[in-house]
Amino acid sequence: MTQNAHPEQTIRSDIDFRGIGLHSGAEVSMRLVAAPAGSGIVFRRTDLDNFEIPANGRNVAKVSYATSLMRGSVLISTTEHLLSALIGFGVDNVIVEVDNLELPILDGSALPYVEAFQRVGLKQQRRRREYIRILKEVEVREGSKFIGVYPGSGYGINYTIDFPQPIGFATFRGDLETGDYASLIAPARTFGFKEDEPKLRDMGLIRGATDACCIILTKSAIQNPPLRFPDEFVRHKVLDLIGDLALAGRRIQGRVIAERAGHAMHTALVQRLMRDRSAWELTHGYDESRDESPETADAPEMLRSALPASA
Ligand SMILES: [Zn+2]
Repeated sequence: MTQNAHPEQTIRSDIDFRGIGLHSGAEVSMRLVAAPAGSGIVFRRTDLDNFEIPANGRNVAKVSYATSLMRGSVLISTTEHLLSALIGFGVDNVIVEVDNLELPILDGSALPYVEAFQRVGLKQQRRRREYIRILKEVEVREGSKFIGVYPGSGYGINYTIDFPQPIGFATFRGDLETGDYASLIAPARTFGFKEDEPKLRDMGLIRGATDACCIILTKSAIQNPPLRFPDEFVRHKVLDLIGDLALAGRRIQGRVIAERAGHAMHTALVQRLMRDRSAWELTHGYDESRDESPETADAPEMLRSALPASA
C-alpha cells in the first residue's frame, strides 16, 4: 500500500433523521445504514419495496433546482447535501433508507450529517479508496456559466458566484483533502430570494421552505440573520458542488473551477467526464506508482484508455 492510500470507510452505527423535504414539504424518515466495502452510496425507498437507486451519474434526473436521482419511474429528490457530507467527511459506503421521495432539508446545510458522523464514528474497511484522477481538462460552458475540471493533487475547488444584491460577487478557494470540510463547508446553508418565492411555489417547489432551513434574502437584506460565515453563500455552492460531483461515483483527484454554475452545470460536468474515458483514470492514492490490487485489475479498460493521454 502506498503512503497516501486511504481505506474505504463506513459509519460505525446506524443514524436516523426525520424532517421535511424542501420542495415537496413531505415528512420523511431517513436511516443511514453501514454498508460493505466496495458498495458505494445506495439509496433505498422503503415505501416502495426497498427499491434501490445507486448514487451515480447514470441515475441523474433532469431537474435544475436540486440534484435528484431516478431509476425506472422511481425518484429520490434533493440528494446533494447528504452526498456532499458523505464525500466531504469520507464515508464511502452507506445505504440510505428513505420512506418518501425527498430527503429531509434539516437546517439547509450538511452540518447535521457531519455532527452525526462525528458522534457515531467511522469504521475503516479492508479495501483501499479509489479516486478518479483527472488526466486532462474537461469543461462545460453555457453563456456566462462555466465549470471545468483539471489535473492536480488533492481535491481543489475554486468557486465564483455573482448574484444580485445583497449577495453580489464572491470567490471561495479550498482543498477537500485538507480535512477542513466539516468546519469550512458543512455549516453553510442553502439560500433563496424572497421575490422568487411565488414563482417557485407556483411550480410546486419550496413547499417545505421556512426560516429554519434556508437563508432568506430580500432585495436589501438578510431576512433571518445571522449568517454563519460572511461568505456563506459561496461556501454553500461549494457544498452543492461536492455533492453533485459525488455522482461520478468516487472522489475526484484534481482541481475544479466553477463560475456562476449550479446543479445543472455540475451534473453536466459529471456526465461529460464519465463519457470521456481518456480524461481520467482510477487510482488508489496521491502517490501511487505500481498497483497490483484486484480492484485495479477489474478496470483494465479504463486504465488502458487513460495511458496515452498522460503527458
Ligand atoms: Zn444546496
